[in-house]
This record gives sequence, C-alpha cells and structure tokens, in this order.
Amino acid sequence: MSNIMQFNFPTTIRFGSEALKEAPLYLQHNNCKNVLIVTDPALAQLPMIATLQALLKAQQIDSIIFSELAKNPTEKDVENGAECFRKHHCDSVIGIGGGVSMDAARAIILMVNHSGHLFDYEDGTGNDAQVKADNIPYFIAIPTTSGTGSEVGRSAIISDSTTHQKKVIFAPPLLAKVILADPSLTLSLPKSITAATGIDALVHNVEAYLVDSFHPMCDGIALEGIRLIDQSLLKAINTPDDIKARYNMMAASTMGAVAFQKGLGVVHSLAHALSAFNNMHHGLANALMFTESLRFNQAVCEEKYQHLEHMLKVEDFVTYCDTLITKAGIQTGLNHYGIHESDLDTIAEIALQDTCHLSNPRKVSYLDFVAILKASL
Ligand SMILES: [Zn+2]
Repeated sequence: MSNIMQFNFPTTIRFGSEALKEAPLYLQHNNCKNVLIVTDPALAQLPMIATLQALLKAQQIDSIIFSELAKNPTEKDVENGAECFRKHHCDSVIGIGGGVSMDAARAIILMVNHSGHLFDYEDGTGNDAQVKADNIPYFIAIPTTSGTGSEVGRSAIISDSTTHQKKVIFAPPLLAKVILADPSLTLSLPKSITAATGIDALVHNVEAYLVDSFHPMCDGIALEGIRLIDQSLLKAINTPDDIKARYNMMAASTMGAVAFQKGLGVVHSLAHALSAFNNMHHGLANALMFTESLRFNQAVCEEKYQHLEHMLKVEDFVTYCDTLITKAGIQTGLNHYGIHESDLDTIAEIALQDTCHLSNPRKVSYLDFVAILKASL
C-alpha cells in the first residue's frame, strides 16, 4: 500500500576514540584472515594506514592496500580492485577514508563474486535483486572525515570513464557489516577539509529535514545533527585538537547520512552539477549553493525555518547559514572558482538531470536552477 512507509536504521556503529583498534577483533570473529584495505592515494601515505596494518598483523591477519583510485573512481578502478582482491586471495574488505574510498570499496565488494559488468547493477536497472548477500565479502567501513556520512550508505557512485557520467550502484547487501567511527582520525584534517566536509554534513541534515514527507525519526536525527554542528563546526576548524568537537562533527556527519534516507534537495543537485562541471570538491560546492537554495525554498519552508531559528536561537536561519559558511573560512561566489555567467546554462542542465531535487520541498525548474546559480555568482 502506498501509504505505508519504510524506516531503516540497520547498521552497527562502534563510535569513539580508538574504535579503529577493534578492526582485528571483528575480522577474527568472522574468520577473516586476509583483508583488502581500500583507500585513496593520499591517505595511503598517512601513518593511520600503517597503524591499521600493524594492528592487523599483530593478530595474524594479512592485509594488502589498494589505493589506485581516481578523484572520481571509475569502473576500471573497481575492476582493478576486485582483481587485486582475487589475486591475493583476500576474504574481506576494509574501506577507510572519505566518500571516494567508501564508494570504491562498496563497488569492489560487489564485483569480486558477481558476474557481468559493474554498470549492469546500476540503480534503476532492477538488477540489484541479483546481488546475493552470501557473495559479498565481510566489509568494515572506517570514516576519516566528518562530512559525506557515506559509511552508512548502501550505494556506490562510480564514474563512467567514457561518458564521465556518475552512476549509482545500489544494493542493500552493500551496507557495511560494522562501522568503526573513530573521531580521533579526524584530528589532523586540514582546516579547509574540516570546513567543507562539515558544511556538507550540515546540508545533509538541513535538506533531509526540509524534505516534505512523514519521517519523524529522521527529522529528529536531522535536527540534533544541525544542533551538534552549530555547537562544534567552528571549534573543530579553529581548535583542530578539540576532541569533543570532533566527536560531535563525526556523529553529525553520520546522522546526516542516516537522515537523508528521506531524500535531499536542490542544493545537492546543484553541487553534483558543479562537481561534474569542473571537479569541484563536493563539500565546497554545497557551501557555494546553500544560501541561495535556502532562499529559494523559504516560501514553502517558513514553519521549519522558524523551528530551526527557535532551536538555534537566531533571528534568521538563512542569514545564520550564510554567516556560518563565511566564519568557516569558505570564500563564496562562483566567480572565485572560475565559473562565469556563460557557464550557468550548462550547469543548470546537468542539475536538472540529477535526481536529488525530486525530493526538494519546492518543485525546481530549469529556469529556477539558472536563477539560483546567477544569484550565487
Ligand atoms: Zn553531500
């Protein structure tokens, strides 16, 4: 029946400093002896990956690192990762990093034991029913940023290397078996990454809350996520070793991704379009599009904005978000990033094709996208 809704909160999350150290324990409990660690090339050089390997080795668990991932992972990266898994006779996967590592790890666990081509399993093809949970290796997700929340996801976004189009591979068995959320891993993040990823987490919580559907559980999570970010984002940026602020930001990031099972909105369609247009960082793209998108939605969200103003003890929610972005040290204005008025039609066309805006509380047209972009120049 169409009026019956589904609420999902299925993942085990181990949360706290040193959660990373539990990785060997979970692998042992699941008889895993040889793990493929999927991460991005920059992270692979950092001490935390060597620490993870040492922790595994101390418990007689072999590991191999796979980090040959493009900035936007492609199907070839995924094939190479799956090949690496098979070649080294791995039995499990740890995805450690931000969204890129999680997307790649999730696509790799799909392809190691499933036949055909990765894009055969693209969302909408109906082939997700062919994904057999028994054929998915044991998978642990370890986030190292507080933004995408993609550790709680069940989909992978992979770029088609011929068309550059981003394709979504979706299947519930791709959900991590356990998430080790260790906020101490974010202590050494550069300020700009803490800021951009933190705004992404804020946008997830806000857009999820604004989606006009009945989901009081996600609404409660989103509101608390927004409150935690209000308390902690600037602290995490300005005093990077403030562990309490890092706890709050990592929690808020995970909460945002849980809440957006309701859907996202116009900000994310525009952010995806900007990233497709010039490879802009996802969090930064969200920050640049946030204020004018909130203004666009204002007329249909008056009551929710008032609720947020009351909760945050501020006069005007849109001004509050705009000021927070500036205080986070993010330079706004698309023209600062090489985007000109002549580019806006193309970006608006890409945004219109994106599906996030389908759950936006106000219907968005091509001309609306152009107007929001123009106001954000
Ligand atoms: Zn996002």
